[in-house]
Amino acid sequence: MVSRKLKKFFDKERVDWLGLLEPKDRDRIKGPVGPKDCYEWTGKYAGSGQPMRFVGDGKSAIAYRYIWEIVYRKRPPKILRHICDNGKCVDPLHLMPGTVRQNNDDASRRGLLKRQLSNREIHEIQYWIDQGRMMKDIGLEYGVSPEMIGQIRSRKRYAWLSWEPRKPKDVE
Ligand SMILES: [Zn+2]
Repeated sequence: MVSRKLKKFFDKERVDWLGLLEPKDRDRIKGPVGPKDCYEWTGKYAGSGQPMRFVGDGKSAIAYRYIWEIVYRKRPPKILRHICDNGKCVDPLHLMPGTVRQNNDDASRRGLLKRQLSNREIHEIQYWIDQGRMMKDIGLEYGVSPEMIGQIRSRKRYAWLSWEPRKPKDVE
């Protein structure tokens, strides 16, 4: 249930943040949907369940962070929490700065932590490791810790799986 304080926040004058986005991004958002009037991302999702948007140079960003930056014209805080608890939501008014602890609590409630990686995902992670991508970024995209990526790299984890890097399908 939404607390009174949050309700007030949701009802606050809604800035026309959609109007600030590129048309192709507006086309990737549907809303308002659900009990909290969320705006959900219909574009690409990472294996971790995070909404993603390509930003050029083969890089992708978490869609709601990308949108937050456009709307507020500054870098988003390290951790943005969904006060609507809807991981698909990209509405900047539904995101608030949070602590690592709060974020982990949110994630475990949504079942994002301790996820099992598929063989396909591991081969993709091998690809990103070979590409020299940062472990933190790879972990973020696949919903696992950077330590886990390090263990895959050093063959402490998933050593039974051969090193056959596979380029993810949706990478240009
Ligand atoms: Zn929302």
